[in-house]
Amino acid sequence: MTLKKKDIRSLSKEQLREFFLETGDKAFRGNQVYEWLWNKGAHTFDDMTNISKKSRDMLKDNFVINHIAVDSMQKSNDGTIKNAIRLHDGLLVESVLIPTKSRSTACVSSQVGCSLNCRFCATARLKRMRNLKPDEIYDQVVAIDKQSKLYNDRPLSNIVFMGMGEPLMNYNNVLKAIDKITADEGLGMSPKRITVSTSGVPKMIKKMADDQVKFNLAVSLHSAIDEVRTNIMPFNEHFPLSDLREALEYWYSKTTNRITYEYVVWKGINDTKEAVEALIQFCKFAPSKVNLIEYNPIDEGEFQQANNSAINMYLEMLEAKNIIVTIRRSRGKDIDAACGQLANKS
Ligand code: SAH
Repeated sequence: MTLKKKDIRSLSKEQLREFFLETGDKAFRGNQVYEWLWNKGAHTFDDMTNISKKSRDMLKDNFVINHIAVDSMQKSNDGTIKNAIRLHDGLLVESVLIPTKSRSTACVSSQVGCSLNCRFCATARLKRMRNLKPDEIYDQVVAIDKQSKLYNDRPLSNIVFMGMGEPLMNYNNVLKAIDKITADEGLGMSPKRITVSTSGVPKMIKKMADDQVKFNLAVSLHSAIDEVRTNIMPFNEHFPLSDLREALEYWYSKTTNRITYEYVVWKGINDTKEAVEALIQFCKFAPSKVNLIEYNPIDEGEFQQANNSAINMYLEMLEAKNIIVTIRRSRGKDIDAACGQLANKS
């Protein structure tokens, strides 16, 4: 019987130092290996060129390095790159690199599939298989950072948790991954450049506030009228807007951070004056920004992007109330890499 080797990345730096001490080596060797694993993205022990062959063999006898692998890569004609990422157990998630003139953004997944059932989102059609581990989230960022350097000559500037899954339903692992991303011995990125996007889980928004997190919060609102929101995002029945609003007020009272809302305007669903008025009522308690997202069709036309006059009505009415509003153009649509299109099609 062969013993299952342990994933070396589940060890803390201290545990690695102890391991080397116990094997008669210097504790410092643990720091070097840790750096290879977390900073230099080593996928094999033989990548660790400043570690002796003897030590590498010893590591091989005791551990495996569970890592992700880019299974396939598609490039959009706008420069967006969509990756199908294979996890160590064979499951797939998707991560996207979105380059613009001033930014290089990674859009990463937090779960395999999603348990929410937003009717307009392709990921909802995959049932949720499992939460990603902290290193699986971190590794996506490292992989996209490498692509950004390779193809665009610059490191990542921003990270958004807008890939597959609901990050607040895998909160602990997302938090651990962000800790690594922001740590000096990780990628040293500022939390101000990280945005966690949620469909709005009130209890977890309050927890984030209590935890005093430093990253940004975006809420996928899409409607501020319960009946409409429940129709397009059925879980709203269990987390109604009044609970979401209360949680956001709590978040704002603790953090005084601006809240971003993501919002798609659909024909016949939320393209009315009443819908905009409800949105204004909903977000006026705190400084807010509304991102009007272009709809990326995923079906045979059940949902359709509203026409320009409806979008202009949103712009005018929101601006009149001093709410910041931007229109976010879709990126990578031709390769199904845009918001809501991630469904392992490849
Ligand atoms: N579960 C999280 C993050 C993943 S979805 C959340 O709900 O925020 C990322 C964003 O894409 C959300 O704002 C979501 O509402 C939006 N989205 C989903 N499907 C879309 C589609 N077909 N077109 C445009 N945006 C979509």
